[in-house]
Amino acid sequence: MRIVLIGAPGSGKGTQAKKLAAKYGIPQISTGDLLRAAVAAQTPLGLQAKAAMDAGQLVSDSIVLGMMEERLNDKDTQKGFILDGFPRNLPQAAALDTILNRMGRPLQSAILINVDFDLLIQRITGRRTCRPCGQMYNIYTSPPKIDDHCDLCGGTLHHRADDNEDTISNRLRVFETQTEPMVRHYQIQGKLTVIDGSDDINRIFIRLCKAIEQSTLSNLEIARLKKTLNDSPPKVETFEKTTKLEQKAKELLDITETNPEVPPLQSSSDAIKEATTMAVKKKARKSAAKKKVVKKKTTAKKKAVRKKSAKKKAVKKKSAKKKAVKKKVVKKKGRKKKSVKKKAVKKKTAKKKGTRKKKTAKKKVAKKKTAKKKARKKKAKAK
Ligand code: AMP
Repeated sequence: MRIVLIGAPGSGKGTQAKKLAAKYGIPQISTGDLLRAAVAAQTPLGLQAKAAMDAGQLVSDSIVLGMMEERLNDKDTQKGFILDGFPRNLPQAAALDTILNRMGRPLQSAILINVDFDLLIQRITGRRTCRPCGQMYNIYTSPPKIDDHCDLCGGTLHHRADDNEDTISNRLRVFETQTEPMVRHYQIQGKLTVIDGSDDINRIFIRLCKAIEQSTLSNLEIARLKKTLNDSPPKVETFEKTTKLEQKAKELLDITETNPEVPPLQSSSDAIKEATTMAVKKKARKSAAKKKVVKKKTTAKKKAVRKKSAKKKAVKKKSAKKKAVKKKVVKKKGRKKKSVKKKAVKKKTAKKKGTRKKKTAKKKVAKKKTAKKKARKKKAKAK
């Protein structure tokens, strides 16, 4: 089984390629993965590829073709392979034809996974990959159970550096301009099948398997039937059987020849513009949300400061009131003390006055008494 999977970034070709590889026991060869590994390992090839990848542009054909030819010579590709993300343009497709024909193993089928642009954007921005085990997630449509951690191995999920809004529109534009002519190339060769990739992963997979089996097996069967017809022209006794085979061969040929009416790839300039506007809008929404949060935080801070100062003021007022009350009480006490003192002094003076009065009265009485005594004595003398 020798298959090429074609699709815009975010079409799910990587996910489907992994599932196909597991089902048919053949390797998935992704140029994106190979290039990312080279960048991570900082090999000379990786260093050369990095700038183009970061900008969302295609890496030069010479790098990619050299890498692919080497990989296709590996033993594990003998039974077949699924190419994911390669070829990406017409020269790469032509070079692949040459390499495979030279090996005597021509390509059997090219499958285009067609996805709406809005959905592509959502898939790309939400895409997360587990670095240790390669499991893929989408935070919008198939999030992990625990944020940022793989359900299978617990590894940390990774957001690809080129899956950001700035690079996405570039990558989609590249797909439109470079990959679309390549799709026509496979259509002309009669090897193209187009499937709808906007469905659920498992339903897309079933559709994909059907398309692959139909295209690869029918090609084999057609070859076998053609050979049978050429080698042994129909004899009378085998006429019926052969006619049936011939009919079957015709049917199969009809399928492959009339096969796909390629729907206009939705990667029109309008769609690109729309995607870019969406990305810009999203960015604006994000920054507005950020601003809102900052505003909220500052108002909350201001409120807290106001509350604090109001509290301080209230406390000050309270303590001032308390002080005033204390002062009043002290004053009252002072006044009370003073009046008590005054009263005591008054009492004392009154007492003093009383004793003095009493004394003078007593003196007066004594004086009167002595005067009376004197008078009585005088009277007695006179007598
Ligand atoms: P992918 O993982 O397939 O989306 O690829 C990520 C990036 O790797 C692309 O944006 C390109 O920069 C680079 N790349 C992958 N495959 C190819 C290829 N066949 N030709 C040129 N560049 C490629």
